[in-house]
Amino acid sequence: MSTSTVPSTPIEGLPMQRDEVKTIYQRSVEGRRAFSAPPLDVPVKPLDELIPAKLRRTTAAKLPQVSEPEIVRHYNRLSKRNFDLDTGFYPLGSCTMKHNPKLHERVAGLPGNARLHPLQDPERAQGALELMHGLQVALGEVAGMPHVSLQPSAGSHGELAGLLVTRAYHEDRGEQRTKVLTPDTAHGTNPATVTMAGYEVVKVGTNPDGGVDVDDLRAKADESVACLMLTNPNTLGVFDANIEEIASIVHGVGATLYYDGANLNAIMGITRPGDMGFDIVHFNLHKSFTQPHGGGGPGAGPIAVSERIAPYLPTPQVVKRDDGSFDLEHDIPKSIGKLRGFQGNYGVFVRSYAYIRSLGAEGLREASEVAVLNANYLLALLRRAGVAEYLPAAFDRICMHEFVLSGAPMKRDLGIRTLDLAKRLLDHGVHPPTVYFPLLVDEALLLEPTETETKETLDHFADVIAEILAEAKGDPEIARNAPYTTPVRRLDEAGAAKRPVIRQPL
Ligand SMILES: *Cc1c(COP(=O)(O)O)cnc(C)c1O
Repeated sequence: MSTSTVPSTPIEGLPMQRDEVKTIYQRSVEGRRAFSAPPLDVPVKPLDELIPAKLRRTTAAKLPQVSEPEIVRHYNRLSKRNFDLDTGFYPLGSCTMKHNPKLHERVAGLPGNARLHPLQDPERAQGALELMHGLQVALGEVAGMPHVSLQPSAGSHGELAGLLVTRAYHEDRGEQRTKVLTPDTAHGTNPATVTMAGYEVVKVGTNPDGGVDVDDLRAKADESVACLMLTNPNTLGVFDANIEEIASIVHGVGATLYYDGANLNAIMGITRPGDMGFDIVHFNLHKSFTQPHGGGGPGAGPIAVSERIAPYLPTPQVVKRDDGSFDLEHDIPKSIGKLRGFQGNYGVFVRSYAYIRSLGAEGLREASEVAVLNANYLLALLRRAGVAEYLPAAFDRICMHEFVLSGAPMKRDLGIRTLDLAKRLLDHGVHPPTVYFPLLVDEALLLEPTETETKETLDHFADVIAEILAEAKGDPEIARNAPYTTPVRRLDEAGAAKRPVIRQPL
């Protein structure tokens, strides 16, 4: 891939770097247009009649002015610098980067879906409401909890919704609880959500098998605890067989049990959070249910809840009336209220509904079975000589949809870190797994191959890992300086999040 320098005009105060790509604003030339239409030859109302003067802006918006070929080339160029799911294998643990069927794009793009106005009256949006209702029913079935709200926009937003309904439930019973328990293997969004919802985070330890330390849980569970947030299988890829005991401890002190359903890919159609004793679950439609994700969205994090939590769900709810019509119900007295504008990311609902309907219950089950099979197959491949002594499995047992390796022996014996291995993988056309998470494992790599990858892809990945380790044995510098073939080399990974550069002239 070429890394040629793009000649560019620096924006004031922002020196251009050697390989920096111009923004669409930097390509803008006053007066340039993508297309021009002939002058109107029909009568039009005066502007003042169409939009009152007080609502109109007084200066023109500073939009980029570019020709149509420039627009097309700009975005095409950017897309080629990206590594996405359509580029190569993407075993990013906990993120479920499965293939997103292209059929879903066709369905989401149908004018009745894509061009529906969010303020359309329910009577005139019956098809959309029926689709949302159908999705609620299907998700309720997968969860084993019948009451569903599609409103939350992401997994973490679903977590927040889950804690807000938990708070409403306890307050309705006259209880003020202050703590939420999260295992130390939890995804980072769990403790962050706890704090955001105004609760105190209390960590629960992990036993040597990778499950919840039940004695530690028993010691920390008391009447001040509002909820335990759990992922099962957890982010170590381990299914916690003590779940019934855990549920009875949590319910014994009157707390709710929350299921982080981002890992649903291991269990769809096999077991259900509701059957395990959970009260609330969130789904990541952009993980298990094939909404394309990465780059920040859009996603959807619906929640399903048990009977006792149902009265507190967000408003409005999509309901089916007795006459068979669909509607938005606003009159829900104990509801926590509205969580966002409109009803959620509707296009996401269309894709996930298309996925569920095209696979059916059997297909969903098979997707989970193959996800687990693929993960175990890859884990078995990586247990071979030349790999396992440097990258051992963190837990020596059958995994679920993902598994964790530790790069600690590799660092000690070969002098390359997990980060170096990850960067070298890019030169082989493979996206790295999740690295340095879960924190519990030293130099961790979290791999989730998903069900949509072929045996050949998994075989190739295992070969590439063996090759990089053999190469590092000869010369660790190669991996330490990788990648070599990407548009940019090593990046300041925290910098992008901490110092975002806003290029749009205000
Ligand atoms: C992805 C993920 C989340 C958060 O979901 P977002 O949609 O990114 O907010 C929470 N928990 C787990 C285990 C996850 O993998």
